[in-house]
Amino acid sequence: MTDDAHAAPRGVGVVVVAAGSGQRLGADVPKAFVDVGGRPMLGHALATAAALPGLRSLVVVAPAGMGDPAGAGWRGVEPPPALRVVEGAADRSGSVAAGLAAVDDGCDVVLVHDAARCLTPLAVFERVVAAVRAGADGVVPGLAVVDTVKTVDAGGFVTGTPDRAGLRAVQTPQGFPLALLRAAHASGQVATDDAALVERTGHRVLVVEGDALAFKVTTPEDLERATRLVAGRDHP
Ligand code: C5P
Repeated sequence: MTDDAHAAPRGVGVVVVAAGSGQRLGADVPKAFVDVGGRPMLGHALATAAALPGLRSLVVVAPAGMGDPAGAGWRGVEPPPALRVVEGAADRSGSVAAGLAAVDDGCDVVLVHDAARCLTPLAVFERVVAAVRAGADGVVPGLAVVDTVKTVDAGGFVTGTPDRAGLRAVQTPQGFPLALLRAAHASGQVATDDAALVERTGHRVLVVEGDALAFKVTTPEDLERATRLVAGRDHP
């Protein structure tokens, strides 16, 4: 990594991607705007991101028609000062690219976070920033995999059993030097996470400890779990 990409600390940018439809959840509003214990998922994610030390730029990538923080869909979300909202794209990578373009150029580090991982603790954000500042080209929170994982062919037949000890289930926020992630996205390639694009450009990505609370709300069961967790905590 060049010294330029790890310049002196100037500030952290956070892109919260919230432009997915969430079809698997089956709700009548886009997933990030579904209520979890009194406020939308996006509201939980933003409240945590806004508390990040050194935060300089906060961007939400919203679905078409949901770009106005004063609009009805945002009820229960407290938009932090200096929030920028941009419209998302058809796939997650396109939505991230739109968000990256709106991040303040003065940031040295950027985090990309799924609104759907709405209960991710602040400590995970801080761990990721610290590891980028310590020199990593990419940092992802991850957890050891407890199930044995199989690869399969189109017919469902097993083609392999990777050694579980070498597997991690990765989460967000994922962190990078801002210039490096923008360069990785400039190719216009698509992947299910940002680290994959950075890996493809030949950079090394570090996994730091994730958190069980950083699970992604995907199914109605996940939503019930998140709602129970919010009901059980002593702050909103
Ligand atoms: O679809 P999936 O659950 O993997 O989405 C992960 C995150 O990416 C969610 O927070 C979702 O809102 C966001 N996303 C997006 N634009 C898309 C698809 C997903 O911002 N086109």
